[in-house]
Amino acid sequence: MIKTVGAGMAVLSLGSLALAEAGAPAAEQGKSPAAPAKPAQGGVAPQPFTLPPLAYAYDALEPHLDARTMEIHYTKHHQAYIDNANRALAEYPDLLKLTAEELIKDLRVAPEKIRGLLRNNVGGHLNHSLFWSILTPKPAALPGKELARAIDAAFGSFDAFKERLVSTAATRFGSGWAWLSLARDGKLQLHSTANQDSPLMEGLQPILGIDVWEHAYYLKYQNLRVDYVKAVQRLLDWRAIDRRYEQALASLPKG
Ligand code: MN
Repeated sequence: MIKTVGAGMAVLSLGSLALAEAGAPAAEQGKSPAAPAKPAQGGVAPQPFTLPPLAYAYDALEPHLDARTMEIHYTKHHQAYIDNANRALAEYPDLLKLTAEELIKDLRVAPEKIRGLLRNNVGGHLNHSLFWSILTPKPAALPGKELARAIDAAFGSFDAFKERLVSTAATRFGSGWAWLSLARDGKLQLHSTANQDSPLMEGLQPILGIDVWEHAYYLKYQNLRVDYVKAVQRLLDWRAIDRRYEQALASLPKG
């Protein structure tokens, strides 16, 4: 079963996926989430944390992402990060008013004994909330004008960016995430983080993130991470990513 998400979860096996799914009530099997009022924008709701609504059905991203992986990933993995974070935070009333972003930006606000747990689980909640919000069954092929210009300036061309995103994801050893982030100097960066670490921990603002844990792709792609990352690239919601870029730019210190 999926329980404490510690360092040990870095090698989450297919066996735990199967166990997690076997534990689901029969009524939940195959059920898609109710249509949300509006798609998640990547920022997450206040505590206690809850699953953000998905803007599409589990099978809507087929054939690139299969329905079974989507359902397990969302209802089991993401839910486990949320449950673990809420359980740890429930014992510290002063921390309940903090947002997920505030917690992860500076874990020293929390007692040392739960920092590792918050790093993995609040990080997991933030990262997955972002991931769902930048996927769409009806993707636009290209970023908007402003982001396109910034991508060209940072990486040479959109095609070069896409190739480097794939190699960034491919070369993250073990479990983690590949990111396009905005740095404090206003420049875009491609980078990766281990486990559920957030770019916010490095003072970077995540614009686009791809989950490269095996649990994100193993059922359909097995060891073929590159094929999975290329498939995710075909699902990217560039309108949502444009909005994230605009918000990140607007939040930079002036001057
Ligand atoms: Mn994941």
